[in-house]
Amino acid sequence: MTAPTRVPVRTRTSADLIRAEEPVLAHNYHPLPVVVARAEGTWVEDVEGRRYLDMLAGYSALNFGHRHPALVEAAHAQLDRLTLTSRAFHNDRLAEFAERLAQLTGQDMVLPMNTGAEAVESGIKVARKWAYDVKGVPADRATIVVAADNFHGRTTTIVSFSTDETARSGFGPFTPGFRVVPYNDLAALEAAVDETTAAVLIEPIQGEAGVVVPDEGYLTGVRELTHREGCLFIADEIQSGLGRTGRTLAVDHEGVVPDVLLLGKALGGGIVPVSAVVGRRDVLGVLRPGEHGSTFGGNPLAAAVGTAVVELLETGEFQRRAAELGTVLRDGLADLVGKGVVGFRSRGLWAGVDIDPALGTGREISQGLLGEGVLAKDTHGSTIRLAPPLTITEAELVSALGALARVLGRG
Ligand SMILES: *Cc1c(COP(=O)(O)O)cnc(C)c1O
Repeated sequence: MTAPTRVPVRTRTSADLIRAEEPVLAHNYHPLPVVVARAEGTWVEDVEGRRYLDMLAGYSALNFGHRHPALVEAAHAQLDRLTLTSRAFHNDRLAEFAERLAQLTGQDMVLPMNTGAEAVESGIKVARKWAYDVKGVPADRATIVVAADNFHGRTTTIVSFSTDETARSGFGPFTPGFRVVPYNDLAALEAAVDETTAAVLIEPIQGEAGVVVPDEGYLTGVRELTHREGCLFIADEIQSGLGRTGRTLAVDHEGVVPDVLLLGKALGGGIVPVSAVVGRRDVLGVLRPGEHGSTFGGNPLAAAVGTAVVELLETGEFQRRAAELGTVLRDGLADLVGKGVVGFRSRGLWAGVDIDPALGTGREISQGLLGEGVLAKDTHGSTIRLAPPLTITEAELVSALGALARVLGRG
């Protein structure tokens, strides 16, 4: 018997790995040229050991930073006990997750799913069912009113009501039953809602569109209009929710309570995909056994991590940090207006920054930031999205703003 010889792992550089992806990985993304190998808190490290400050935070899936100790501990403990049962059986983690998430969001019931797009799809199904069973809309006539420049995910039904040609083109035929109105326009919304309307589905702040914050009073107006017209208000808080804007939910800034909330991204703590439809009992209660489901939805690992996420949010610490550091971000960006920044929108630790197109595309600016050790991502054209982990320190935030100033100064 000879001892097994260890086959040496050929060390592949970042450049090797980027080259290796090209022939084997679908080209549906165009990542910035950095290959991340490990991360902790607000920092990631690439294959060569270079460190970067993460100012994107997985599009807000990493609100608590990379590998938050409480979340990693909850995941480890659950991995050692039970990971999956399917909903054919009960599991001992799901009740607490649902109770605490409902309590945190001021709602009654929870429908657990996995990805954001699934939460949106589930919300659409619930709204349609509610329209037929409760509102009395004639069969197959229900409509849902949505906003232009929305981003709700990538399924065939969801891209059916996207106004982004890149997201839609080539993927028809499209699902009927949606009406698109301009965002932040209550008169247009009012004109589109009629007796067939099951729901108004909007993002309280449009993330992918460039962190577009509606006028004060818009969300209140949507709430009043949907009450008056007898249709549901569904708020997609998948990116805006769970502390990002300085409150638990973006709708909290206007004290508005929608009938249905869609949550995702940060709900999984950056560890597992966890999403949920959260709503009133008379709305989510329309679903009967067999009418909707998901093999992985509500699995014990997801429920354990999701509960730990809710626990972090129950302290209010992250909402407070986002609000306080949000003023540092806003003031720092205000200083850059006229120095390469033509305008910006921000709420909490979330900003869409419009760069002077003469200085380069959003992607070129993001590449410049990469060179400065900062990870960020363009949304459209010359707009950069900044959404650091809510655990970022003031000094780190100031250093990221300094890096942006240097990149713009070179432009
Ligand atoms: C990311 C996102 C989604 C889709 O979530 P996935 O997990 O990528 O399917 C839906 N709505 C909003 C507002 C989002 O930001």
